[in-house]
Amino acid sequence: MKYLIANWKMNSVDIDVWEQEFINVVSSQNNFPKSDEVKLIVCLNLYDYTVFSKKIKNSKNEIFNKISLFTQDVSQYDDGAFTGQISSKFLKKVGVEGSIIGHSELRENGDTENIVFEKGLRLNEQGLSNIFCIGEGLEILENNKKKPFLLNQLQTFCKDNISPGLLAYEPIWAIGSGKEADSENISSAVSIILDFFEEKKIDCPILYGGSVSKSNIEEIISIPGIDGCLVGNSSLDGEQFAIIASKIKS
Ligand code: PEP
Repeated sequence: MKYLIANWKMNSVDIDVWEQEFINVVSSQNNFPKSDEVKLIVCLNLYDYTVFSKKIKNSKNEIFNKISLFTQDVSQYDDGAFTGQISSKFLKKVGVEGSIIGHSELRENGDTENIVFEKGLRLNEQGLSNIFCIGEGLEILENNKKKPFLLNQLQTFCKDNISPGLLAYEPIWAIGSGKEADSENISSAVSIILDFFEEKKIDCPILYGGSVSKSNIEEIISIPGIDGCLVGNSSLDGEQFAIIASKIKS
């Protein structure tokens, strides 16, 4: 099974248009991957969730109606006076399947390793899944500190029965830059992660994220150990996202 995840961030997406564009591509291809070959997940805000989940329910397209919906963040707290935050209990109540945690854009806004771990715990308590993001910044890469940096992110998260549902390796310098990481860089991260997973007996798909597009998806998905991709900008357009999905083979 491969995985393709859309992260819409705070962009406004016209969901009617997105659905139509997506379905046009699916219908025009005889061998579009089946839902048991490529799992599609869209990570969106809760308003879009209510609109998109109704569309999924009403759609007769069997690829579209198997899309899973996640949010992009969850509160580290359980309940209480935390204005503006959304708890895992609430996500569970509305029917969201899980959330991204540890995205670098949230880490840059104050999410520490411990906060990301607490968010993982909250999701776990509600039986919800997580897409755990890790990745180094340019300075860490250039100073040859990538391995200890990634290991620290993994070690702080993978404890007390918490482990990633999906692990996304997203080097910060590749996110939204239009310049994806090269295969050597991705492979070295995969081997750090796989060694760690082996030691901890964790079985979890590894995804890459950072400027994935319809032009580079085939190269990235063919890197050994990569089970899928997390896509930001190129997921905002239903046609682009479906073309990327069509190029992923199990
Ligand atoms: C992301 O936001 O996680 C991401 C990978 O974005 P982009 O594809 O735009 O680099």
